[in-house]
Amino acid sequence: MPQGLTTVFTEPGKPFDLESLPTPDIEEGGILIKNTDAVICGSDLHVWRGDGDGPPLSQRRILGHEFTGVVHSLSKGIDTDSLRRPLKEGDRVAFPFFFPCHRCYHCIRGEHHSCTFRSRRNMVGLDKYPYCNGGMAEYFYLQPGHYAYKVPDELPSDAIPSVNCALA
Ligand SMILES: [Zn+2]
Ligand SMILES: [Zn+2]
Repeated sequence: MPQGLTTVFTEPGKPFDLESLPTPDIEEGGILIKNTDAVICGSDLHVWRGDGDGPPLSQRRILGHEFTGVVHSLSKGIDTDSLRRPLKEGDRVAFPFFFPCHRCYHCIRGEHHSCTFRSRRNMVGLDKYPYCNGGMAEYFYLQPGHYAYKVPDELPSDAIPSVNCALA
């Protein structure tokens, strides 16, 4: 697995650290994304300033959830996107940031964006999950069962990041 440059948040108001971390092992059904474009969301600013809804975060973690990239590696058996269109390494893709549970009331109704138990492994912080895997990082890992959609050629890459949040 490649190493990736990772922008690490440590505590509110402090400059980010830049670290080289390994990418997660790709499980069967997983896709490793090489990020190409990202934007900074208002909620990233709240976390960095420590003035969001919850208590200020102090764990080392990777911020960013509005981004896009190209397929770096496909696990064995994955050769299409979530709409069954052919998918290969180098293709540009869009994907939701949060991983839906596929079991709650909203998921069963197909409202994955409203999943009650949506998660990302990297939300636990880098002390428990020390990988290059996030929006403000060089790579992002789509775990098995996650969605990925090939981006139409006519769409510029800098128009994609906000489909993860502001445009959803
Ligand atoms: Zn956002
Ligand atoms: Zn759910």
